[in-house]
This record gives sequence, structure tokens and C-alpha cells, in this order.
Amino acid sequence: MRRESRKAKTRRILLTGGTAGLAVGILLTVFAARAVVKEHEATLTAENEQLQSEMEELRTVALRSSAVKNSAELLASSEDGWALALINENYPLDTEYEPAELTEIEPERSVDSRIAQDLQDMLDDAQKAGLSMYVASAYRAYDKQREVFNSTMQDWIEQGYGPLDAYDETRKSVAVPGTSEHASGLAVDIISSDYEALDDRQGDTDEQKWLMEHCWEYGFILRYPQDKADITGIIYEPWHYRYVGKDVAKEITQQDITLEEYILEQ
Ligand SMILES: [Zn+2]
Repeated sequence: MRRESRKAKTRRILLTGGTAGLAVGILLTVFAARAVVKEHEATLTAENEQLQSEMEELRTVALRSSAVKNSAELLASSEDGWALALINENYPLDTEYEPAELTEIEPERSVDSRIAQDLQDMLDDAQKAGLSMYVASAYRAYDKQREVFNSTMQDWIEQGYGPLDAYDETRKSVAVPGTSEHASGLAVDIISSDYEALDDRQGDTDEQKWLMEHCWEYGFILRYPQDKADITGIIYEPWHYRYVGKDVAKEITQQDITLEEYILEQ
């Protein structure tokens, strides 16, 4: 066994220590670097999230503005899907939109001519089934909608409501101009001749029961069903029917979904 000289031993200890020191140093550097990287990562993640939410906002704005344009474009087109225009508070219809051709179903009650035959068939078949109903409201131009909205709001103001509260009360029962499906010419309010009130009980009449069961066969859906207000933004309206075409009406009915869900989630 070779005896280590004192000098050599010292050198070995120093070297080991140095190496250990170096290792600790490297480790510390790595930890420090990691901390910096982590901090940086956190900043990047925050920046990323910020960017993402900004992009999301932009996307929503873009989607809405294109939907405004698209609804009118879609409605005016002869392509499949013209009956699928989504119109609600988030997707207003261009206030300039007018159906190309209207057909009068009942005096002063007109609809987009493309849905007139199906609507007429539905009303005829309901009558054959011994029911009595009529179209209370059909195509309503933007200006007309604005008139209805303003006069209803005026009523609330006259009852002592401030303008903002009057506005909120009004929009519970009248669509904000530009967001009403009636401007598309694809929506009708049909009510029972025996019970003419526009309230929940309208849904209990034989006429509405028949319509709710059969409307899809003619391309219509009950647009604002019960318990779907959180999705449609509109309370239960057992009288408002919207034309979407026979295939889509069947699908929406079978799946028990709303037009919002059909268009935005599929
Ligand atoms: Zn309606």
C-alpha cells in the first residue's frame, strides 16, 4: 500500500472540496436558474393568458359582427341553410334586412314566401284536427319593432319607472329592435282562438299541444321552450314558432335542444 504524502493528501482534500464546492455551486446556479425560469414562465403564462383572453374577446367580437352580416346574408342566399340564421341579443340581424318576397297568410300577417306553403299546411292540418288558432304576429320590420319597443317602454315610464328600469322591463316582453326573429320573416306567433293571452297557460291549450307535437313535421320549432331561457335569453313563449326547415326541425326536436345549441355547439 502506497503511503500518501501529506502534500498529496492535502491536494486531494482540496480538490475534493473544490469539486464538491463546484458541484454545490453548479446546483445553486441550477436552482437559481430554475427559479428565474419559473418566474419567467409565470410571467409568460400570465402574458399568454392575457393574450388568450384578448384573442377570445376579439374572436367573439368578430364572430358577432360576422354573424350580424351572416344572418342577413344567409337569409338572403338561396343556399341550403338560409333558414338557419341565428337571431338573438348576441346575434342581431342587420337592421336593413328585408325578406325578398313576402306572402300574406292572413290579413296583415305576412311571412317570407319560402315558408308560406309549409306554414299554410300546418295551419290547415291543425284545422282538420278540429283546432282553432290564428297567426297573431308574423313578419315585423325593424321600424315596426322599434315602434312597439318604444311605446311599451313609454308605458313603463308613465307608470313611474326610470328609463333604465323601463328598458329592462320592456325587454322582458318585447325583443330589442334588431334582435327579433320576426324581422326575418321566418317566425310566427300562433295563438289559440279559445285562449288568447300570451302567457304560460297558452301552452296548455289543445292548439299549442298539437303545434308542439307536430310543428317539426312542417319545418318549425317551438323557439323558446320552457326552462331554456338561460340559453335562448327569452322566457317561455308557447306561441312563438320559428321555421328552420324540416330536417333541422326534426333533429332539434329529437334532441330536445334549442337553435342556439344546434348552431353554436355542433
Ligand atoms: Zn314571437
